[in-house]
Amino acid sequence: MSEALSNPALCLQLVLEKELIKTYFQPIYSLSNRALIAYEALTRGPENSALQRPEDLFSCAEAAGCLSELEILCRKKAIQRFAELGLPGFLFLNISPSTLLDPAHPQGETLRLLSDVGLAIERVVIEITEVQKIEDEPLFQKAITHYRQLGFQIAIDDLGSGNSGLRQWSELLPDIVKIDRYFVDNCHQDSVKRAFLESIVALAQATGTRVVAEGIERLEELLFLQSLGIDMVQGYLLKKPQLLPSHEAISVEILPVQPREKGVNQYHFNSIAALRNTQALNFIDWAGDDQSIGHLAIEGQVLGMACSVEQAKMIFACEPQLQSIVVLNEALYPQGVVYRNSVFELLSSRYGSAVYAQQPLQKIIQAQFEVADGNASMQQISTRLVERLSRNGQQLVVLNAGVYVGVIDCNVWPEGILEQGSTLLAESLSALVD
Ligand code: C2E
Ligand code: CA
Ligand code: CA
Repeated sequence: MSEALSNPALCLQLVLEKELIKTYFQPIYSLSNRALIAYEALTRGPENSALQRPEDLFSCAEAAGCLSELEILCRKKAIQRFAELGLPGFLFLNISPSTLLDPAHPQGETLRLLSDVGLAIERVVIEITEVQKIEDEPLFQKAITHYRQLGFQIAIDDLGSGNSGLRQWSELLPDIVKIDRYFVDNCHQDSVKRAFLESIVALAQATGTRVVAEGIERLEELLFLQSLGIDMVQGYLLKKPQLLPSHEAISVEILPVQPREKGVNQYHFNSIAALRNTQALNFIDWAGDDQSIGHLAIEGQVLGMACSVEQAKMIFACEPQLQSIVVLNEALYPQGVVYRNSVFELLSSRYGSAVYAQQPLQKIIQAQFEVADGNASMQQISTRLVERLSRNGQQLVVLNAGVYVGVIDCNVWPEGILEQGSTLLAESLSALVD
């Protein structure tokens, strides 16, 4: 180790001057569908240096009075690297409360970084640790409200390890709480930990907060947490933090397939894969020649009726161009559409998230939308309808034998198609379902 790197003060100077940090990413998964939904960014100092461990790095920077400078560097690297690697899902960023309150902390810096790399604010979750003491509570509240209004999601990190967790929870109304590893460690064998975990889950349900359990090292812990109703999980058992992290879902080697996962009756977000297998668009032999509208259809995004408003928000956050999601019942018949704007509007108010996040989509779907059978020819669809859908940014939902197969973006409707009378308009959903 060079002398400079073994001396903490010199090492810190080098880290800041030459940006010598690396960002590792640790996946966070959803147990209900095994999907990878997010990554937490974790910083490391130079390898084999006095400040390789993040705890050493951050405490040295704090002692030297340059914590904010280091934090901004960490955030910049994390955002740039996340975008560079094209990682899917959400990005969880650790931000210490003292940095948020530092008057020297440049406002708008994070927004600029995000827009530079084209990352939507909605995809970023700010983790605020509960361990650090917060000096000026009202100012802190204000800072959090400000971040939330910009569109960031807020998580309380290390819940249960400090002493203000419940108060912070009730005051900040975070979108997410991350349970401290202490409660996860051997939770399956400890009745006191179980009681605490159960209370956290109950509080989360009552306040519309999602829970992440972190630091999971044993399958027994994972299964136990799942039995308590905890869906989001993180830990060495699943994946360690990596420089080039995996994009894969939870493998069967780690978590064996459980019987209730089989079949398409309980599908959550992205388990459209199951549906695609049953009715893959490319394999449908549409009637007539290439004039059938089925040829214009794309797979589109769907969710089940029982999926939550929050799940719709996650999909919209991950797909910035997506304007609507079709909602299907268990028989794969479309029941309605949820629109991007209405989901974000609903959840953006102070209590919106608490009230609506965990509600089933059934409660907010727009049941008025147009469907047509994919075997219909383009000439059978009214030009007025196509124009209206295209003008309003709405899609035509395409069925095959009554079952959803995809959507048509009416902007791609070929020009010069002559409507032959008004024999068939697209129909309204309720007519088909009832
Ligand atoms: P944290 O935010 O609680 O991050 C989780 C820590 O637990 C990480 O350690 C991670 O590697 C570790 N971990 C994850 N799963 C397991 C597991 O199954 N078992 C065990 N034993 N550990 C697990 P890491 O990367 O050493 O980070 C330590 C702490 O340093 C973080 O704790 C966070 O408070 C801080 N930190 C790291 N990067 C940053 C950053 O960029 N900004 C700020 N403000 N803090 C950071
Ligand atoms: Ca964290
Ligand atoms: Ca933590």
